[in-house]
Amino acid sequence: MFTSFRTEHTEGFIEYRVEDLTGLRTRICPERLKRGIGGVYIPTYKDEDCPFCPGLIEEVTPVFPDGKRIHIGESITFPNLYPFAAYHVVTSITHEHSVPTFTHKQIADALSGQVTALKKQSEYVSINWNYLPSAGASLPHPHLQGLCDHQPDTLPSRYLLAGEQYHKTHGRGYFEDVRKDAERSGRDLPGTILFWYAHPVPIGEREIRCLLPLTTVAEFSDVLEDFAADLISLLGFYRDLGTSAFNMAIFFGQNKDRNTFSAFCSLISRINPNPLSTSDTAFMERLHLEPVILTLPEELASTWREYAQNMPNVPTIIN
Ligand SMILES: [Zn+2]
Repeated sequence: MFTSFRTEHTEGFIEYRVEDLTGLRTRICPERLKRGIGGVYIPTYKDEDCPFCPGLIEEVTPVFPDGKRIHIGESITFPNLYPFAAYHVVTSITHEHSVPTFTHKQIADALSGQVTALKKQSEYVSINWNYLPSAGASLPHPHLQGLCDHQPDTLPSRYLLAGEQYHKTHGRGYFEDVRKDAERSGRDLPGTILFWYAHPVPIGEREIRCLLPLTTVAEFSDVLEDFAADLISLLGFYRDLGTSAFNMAIFFGQNKDRNTFSAFCSLISRINPNPLSTSDTAFMERLHLEPVILTLPEELASTWREYAQNMPNVPTIIN
């Protein structure tokens, strides 16, 4: 599923990896963890004038053409005032402005709000989350963003196009083979309800993907409760490893893509907010389009197994 080679240096190694299907490349340099950049510093954010806090949200955010917003539990979904997609909706997840951990209901309700707003869209849909400003959130108040465009974005389009070719050549879906390969290699994350695995050619730190048993956003409702439960476990895992900030994207296909594409989620951890604004994204990621990653996916999966054994809410792992 991918090719790799290592070069050794006096302190360790660099492992270069290329995903066979997409040609996406990454390099993994575990020794760079020793630099110890990033800490657990999480500032508290004032809620003054926050447009997503109760009170102001009903006054300053737009409404859908029917004159309403979508309310599910604490979540409120509305059109983005400053869209960067043909259809762009925002879901404020909680009443609270600053939330260190989320309940299952908060995440499931917010995802339901997104699905309700997006399910009638017939083109390429994604549900996304930047959590904390160091992960790109322009407002610290937790919120999801749903996008829909005529064309799939760069990453999903690679899987959509190459997945079609893979199906023609091999007579089966690419994602079936991704799953088998992850299980064979021990990169799967047992104890989750849906199928999650440490992605072998990570495009971000500690990348974990979920292969969803569905294609379109409308079908996501069927597994949304399970997805929310797994996400809470995985965010707890990230926090245990020292990072609270993260990005998440769930990519959906259209009905016509059903045989060759599976909806999937990508989750990556990000550097925590810090006083110097030190970034975990620099010229390699932004200009070379080649991520420098610190954690080997195989080690991430192995760490998860140890973590999950001691976590009360994760079912017993059967090795
Ligand atoms: Zn707020």
